Amino acid sequence: MAIGWITLALTCAVTGCAPGEAEVAAKKTPVAVQSKLAPGDVITIPHPRPAPDFKYQGELTQGGWIRGSVPSGTVSATLGDQQLAFERRDLEFFAAFDRDSPSSLTLSATLANGKIYSEQITVSPRKWNIQRVNVAKRGGGSSEAWWKKREPEWLAIKGAREKVTGAMGWQQNFIWPVKGRISGHFGRQRIYRGEPGSYHSGIDIAPGNGVPFVAPADGVVVLARTGFSLEGNIIIIDHGGGLNSAFLHASKLAVKEGQAVKQGDYIGNVGSTGRSTGPHLHWSLKWRDARLDPLLFTGPMN
Ligand SMILES: [Zn+2]
Repeated sequence: MAIGWITLALTCAVTGCAPGEAEVAAKKTPVAVQSKLAPGDVITIPHPRPAPDFKYQGELTQGGWIRGSVPSGTVSATLGDQQLAFERRDLEFFAAFDRDSPSSLTLSATLANGKIYSEQITVSPRKWNIQRVNVAKRGGGSSEAWWKKREPEWLAIKGAREKVTGAMGWQQNFIWPVKGRISGHFGRQRIYRGEPGSYHSGIDIAPGNGVPFVAPADGVVVLARTGFSLEGNIIIIDHGGGLNSAFLHASKLAVKEGQAVKQGDYIGNVGSTGRSTGPHLHWSLKWRDARLDPLLFTGPMN
């Protein structure tokens, strides 16, 4: 950063910038930059105006997210191999990083004039809770009879997550659907005699049976069903922008499919339906195919 500002300060000093830019540069670099130049020093002078730029913030780590705006004049943008959707009006985009995301991704924009602007995003790795256990991985859930019951549930969940509702919750700072003891973190995984089991795809919150929970952000209910074999009573909310939440094991559903909800609206009650060892809310978040850590959307519980 500092190098960037110094470069700008030099550039401004030599070529003259818009007054605002020069002022900002001067504030950031209180040192008298010009005095550091020795006679004969060569200064490369870039274009006096800063290049069009991505602006963003977020949790740039595995299971995290990024939200910002693409450079003005962008006609298409990508992050890694993902095409980004952005608002035509304010250029805002949202994307997220899978639990197993690579540590570097290219953020790239193609401008209307054909120029390509890109930068590297560093996605910091996480230290997942991995337990190596000396027992064989259970093969349960693979029989034909089981799949006959499971397949329609799996298809319903997949179909719901693919629905595009135009919800705008992706622009919000998420809130906790309910507060209580965190009984299971996102990403933990067991490895059975060298064979990895599937990792925990959400966060478990155990405030007690029957406690009401709310929508963490605005959205549209795309699934509200009872009696699923693993999930029990399940709600899925689309937050738009490819981002959606699933809530499992509810004792009661208080919303219907197609219903629009606002952040903080009551949507159901915590329970232990489906494959669950005690009353808790399993909350999972997905952006497209990426599985995300809800804790990175809400911040720590207090
Ligand atoms: Zn869980």
